[in-house]
Amino acid sequence: MTECSGPSMKCTIVGCAGKYEDKKIIQTARPAGRLVVIENVPAEVCSICGDILLAPDTVRRMEEIVREAREPDRMAPVYEYARW
Ligand SMILES: [Zn+2]
Repeated sequence: MTECSGPSMKCTIVGCAGKYEDKKIIQTARPAGRLVVIENVPAEVCSICGDILLAPDTVRRMEEIVREAREPDRMAPVYEYARW
């Protein structure tokens, strides 16, 4: 499906012995100052340092989702850290 070289690809972070695993992650984007959250984004995540790899197709799809800006599937409250 992606051009990644498989689920056991070695981490690209220097000195990290971890391997990337298929995970579903949450990604945020800030188009034009808005905050957009996309859930269940397929990604490769290092089992040790948590480094994230996104396939080019995944990045493109997220850009489409943000650009199309349809009604969200779910809504969540957003808190400003500095105010608490
Ligand atoms: Zn790593």
